[in-house]
Amino acid sequence: MHELSIAVIIVETVEENLPSKEEKVEKVFLKIGKLSGVVKDALLFSFEIAAKDSQMENAVVEIEELPVIVFCDSCEMSLELGDPPIFRCENCGEATPKIEQGKELEIVSVELKNKK
Ligand SMILES: [Zn+2]
Repeated sequence: MHELSIAVIIVETVEENLPSKEEKVEKVFLKIGKLSGVVKDALLFSFEIAAKDSQMENAVVEIEELPVIVFCDSCEMSLELGDPPIFRCENCGEATPKIEQGKELEIVSVELKNKK
């Protein structure tokens, strides 16, 4: 399962960047492009397994899905593609192979739990 290995990498990356081993993560914000090949629900489910016994255990994972944006050379403008994305400009009908957004898989920010 592809999403599980991604969840494991994200948990490891978050843990490596925490200020100490005692910190617990409250929330993680991710950005995922529609072309990244990651299924949001499968990834969320994978965190339940990947984050177990880690500093990210029980953390809330918020995922923002980014639409695909391409650049049309003929119109000299960026345009957002629909779902599923078809790589053709809706204005002039030219093929639009230049992808500006949609392949992202980023950890945007991490919120830590307040220490009691
Ligand atoms: Zn065009």
